[in-house]
Amino acid sequence: MGGVSEKPYDTLNLAFHTGDDYRAVQVNRERFTQALGIPAQDLVAANQVHGANICRIEITDKGKGALDQQTVIEATDSLMTNTKGVPLIAFFADCVPVMFLDPQKKAIAITHAGWKGTVLKIGAKTVRKMAFEYGSNPKDLLVIIGPAIGPCHYEVDGPVIEVFQNNFVEWKRLLEIKEDNKAQLNLGEANRIQLLEEGVLAENITLANICTACHQDLFYSHRYSDGKTGRLAGAIMLV
Ligand SMILES: [Zn+2]
Repeated sequence: MGGVSEKPYDTLNLAFHTGDDYRAVQVNRERFTQALGIPAQDLVAANQVHGANICRIEITDKGKGALDQQTVIEATDSLMTNTKGVPLIAFFADCVPVMFLDPQKKAIAITHAGWKGTVLKIGAKTVRKMAFEYGSNPKDLLVIIGPAIGPCHYEVDGPVIEVFQNNFVEWKRLLEIKEDNKAQLNLGEANRIQLLEEGVLAENITLANICTACHQDLFYSHRYSDGKTGRLAGAIMLV
């Protein structure tokens, strides 16, 4: 809410790659970052591809993808840094935002996890890479799993059911199997489980449990918009 984009991107669309007017997205990003008290031109954004690449962001990356799509970090779904004043941003419309803070080693990360990234365990891999790059102990990590499509609105079919059954021991907690080889999938929980398996403490994970499709007055839902819609964003920065 509070942006200048017109339908079907109304109104605070924060992503350039949706087909929205470029200038509108720039204005929206300026409004969004102003509300957060960070300079829009410092944002670091990636071209998200539903993969498992994780990029360590340095001071020299500051501003990449901030106000245009040409300078984005290529083919990456998870950004991390231990540099102060470098805001990391990622974009979502049903996919799961996962944000990490290590208050001990002073490091952060933001991850975009759709069903493919969730199966690739990009959240778990981000925890491991934070340990490798910054010496983060998973027990110290504070994690937010943000608004995403909920099990109430996320019906999947055979191939997706199978891949979750093959990749999650606790798949019965994630899939509510129905007839006709369909199931309701809980993506947020699938992300929470993989973080617990990496040693993140349950009390340190906040699951928003807000469904983007249930709340289309507040959020964008890719699945319930014929594919043409805006993107909300999560942003995180060390100060
Ligand atoms: Zn829902």
